[in-house]
Amino acid sequence: MKVLKFGGTSVGSAERMRALPALIQGPEPRIVVLSAMSGTTNALVNITKLLYEGDTTAATYQTEILRQHYLIVARELLPEADVAAEAIGHLDASFKTIFNLTRHPLSASGERLILAQGELLSTLLFHRYYTALLGQPAVLLPALDFMRLDKDEEPDEAYIAEHLAVVLAPHAEQPLFITQGYICRNANGDIDNLKRGGSDYSASLIGAAAQAEEIQIWTDIDGLHNNDPRVVDDTYPIRELSFDEAAELAYFGAKILHPSSILPASKYGIPVRLLNTMQPEAPGTLISAKTGDEAIKAVAAKDGLVAIKIKSSRMLLAHGFLRSVFEVFERYRTPIDMITTSEVAVSLTIDDATHLAEILEDLRGFGAVEVDQDQTIVCLVGNLIQENNGSARLVFNALKDIPLRMISYGGSPNNISLLIHSSYKVRALQALNEGLFQPRPVANA
Ligand code: ADP
Ligand code: ASP
Ligand code: MG
Repeated sequence: MKVLKFGGTSVGSAERMRALPALIQGPEPRIVVLSAMSGTTNALVNITKLLYEGDTTAATYQTEILRQHYLIVARELLPEADVAAEAIGHLDASFKTIFNLTRHPLSASGERLILAQGELLSTLLFHRYYTALLGQPAVLLPALDFMRLDKDEEPDEAYIAEHLAVVLAPHAEQPLFITQGYICRNANGDIDNLKRGGSDYSASLIGAAAQAEEIQIWTDIDGLHNNDPRVVDDTYPIRELSFDEAAELAYFGAKILHPSSILPASKYGIPVRLLNTMQPEAPGTLISAKTGDEAIKAVAAKDGLVAIKIKSSRMLLAHGFLRSVFEVFERYRTPIDMITTSEVAVSLTIDDATHLAEILEDLRGFGAVEVDQDQTIVCLVGNLIQENNGSARLVFNALKDIPLRMISYGGSPNNISLLIHSSYKVRALQALNEGLFQPRPVANA
């Protein structure tokens, strides 16, 4: 079994959907995981915002615009009238679900139901195109029948494996399955999702559940690049990354992968290949247990962090102090991303500021607390074992004009993390490109 995930741009128009069949052929059975068409989830998020603001008229209008867009795509993709009519019946049911939710104040479960429609629409359209228009065999598997979160809102891997096997069982000879990325049910059985960009995570969870031999993430770029191509010119794809390196880059901001998407694949050693639908012959990036020996392979940046410093001359090094500090974050289920300590202070960062006020209130019990908003973690990833000396010097030289708020090195052999004010992010990424990756390594020249 192979799992192939196609992102928003890769299914973003009738033309893009028509390019998929050539990419999904192969001798072994395949599960194709689709995102919503590009722009759809943003449009649905916008509709939910308007509803929360009580602007029903605008929400209804935006829903109608989206419906019209889908009618055009359906007619273009499915030129046979009866095939189009059947598909449009399903599209209309999805839009009716949204229109019905515009009639009452929006609840959190209503919001999630609206957000789920994007992947339901894209998979329906592609399935009908592939089977009814092209006459190819494929089964549409409802992700809501097997993707599930547990009571801690984490994917319930045992449930997913068991229920995926149940939905696959009646189709022993099938070559192709199509399912939705992103959407799932929660522990109560209500519709939920894996957060923005979550289709990558779906593909990895499904790959792990099916014990797939490979997971392919098809997107609009030729692999994971050494730096953020949206911010820096002259980036290049990295051919090979280890699971740990890829997981760090995904978590620390490489948007090409959902932050948690490498973990399920890595748990079972399933290779993940990042490939480009616009350039299918490009080798892309292979993520596996192997690592190369370049010292620094890539840089990524994650915005939206809050830095908190707790200063307490009395207690810091007393045993049990750090535990008491961590307990505060644990109490509010807020993960810490980065941490540094000195003899009198501890600094740490969080990206979920939902409970910031309560956390600060509790921390003030330990000493003086300072808070800095709008912080960015810049994460450098590679083979940073001590023998590869000299990497830190290159990093600090490159960043000599940028104020560094925190530095973390040695936590893992794969990572140096730096905290800067977000206003310096672009300059920092550009300076690191100049200082670390120019001229390009020979393999990427
Ligand atoms: P999809 O819709 O296929 O999931 P995304 O937009 O989520 O695609 O991810 C692909 C985009 O990620 C690329 O177009 C690129 O702009 C952005 N990106 C950010 N950092 C990186 C990186 N280090 N390498 C490759 N792409 C990156
Ligand atoms: N459609 C969802 C989003 O835009 C999930 C995904 O594309 O991965 O966030
Ligand atoms: Mg994505």
